[in-house]
Amino acid sequence: MAPEENPGSWPEPQNILVILAHPDDPEFFCGGTLARWARNGHHLQYYLLTCGDKGRNDHNKDIPGDELCDLRHQEEYAAASVIGVKAVRFLDREDGTLVPDLDLRRDVVRIIRQMKPDILVTCDPQNLFASYGLNHPDHRAAGQVVLDAVFPAAGNDLFFPELLKEGYPPHMPKEVWVSLTNQPNVTIDITEAWPIKLKALKEHKSQIGDILKFEERMRKRHTEDSTDENPKFEEKFRRIVYK
Ligand SMILES: [Zn+2]
Repeated sequence: MAPEENPGSWPEPQNILVILAHPDDPEFFCGGTLARWARNGHHLQYYLLTCGDKGRNDHNKDIPGDELCDLRHQEEYAAASVIGVKAVRFLDREDGTLVPDLDLRRDVVRIIRQMKPDILVTCDPQNLFASYGLNHPDHRAAGQVVLDAVFPAAGNDLFFPELLKEGYPPHMPKEVWVSLTNQPNVTIDITEAWPIKLKALKEHKSQIGDILKFEERMRKRHTEDSTDENPKFEEKFRRIVYK
């Protein structure tokens, strides 16, 4: 089947870069798809814009704030390793304060030109109302700044000419996959990869609290046409293809 008929099934190994706001975002938003791609021989890397240093909740209230950043780095390295990701990098902007301004856009264009992804993964900046309530503003800001960096800046030498002087010529990904979206045009069946996604998520110990309750909550996210006994899981994306 041609890749056009079966999105995400590229015949050749692809260089896939995930740019999102926080540690745990890649696994929550699209960990099953990423695990599938890693097992199909693609080369995956993460670049996270913050270290999640304000990811405070009832499960980690005894951990000092200044220790949370380093702890979440470690948790993400462990989770990414379960997914099959080759490298994780952090921009370490301050959690909760991401703004899709020109300064951050320049940083993201630099990352895209430096890492030269074939496939770029981010999230939907227009997703304000998530299933659990309000979507985090950093998620929306990360999605906005990444999409604004892709078009029109990353592939155009007239944007951020200072990056040319730094040694980063234009680069354009072939496809952009936007996760956590209410406007999907691709659905990926991740039922087989579900145990890997769950195992990776459980590495984010500072965020998930009681493991059994967490597993139960996650298992309820099966598709409407499946059951608790025989669950099916999916992840949805808005896929944008550049020829
Ligand atoms: Zn997040």
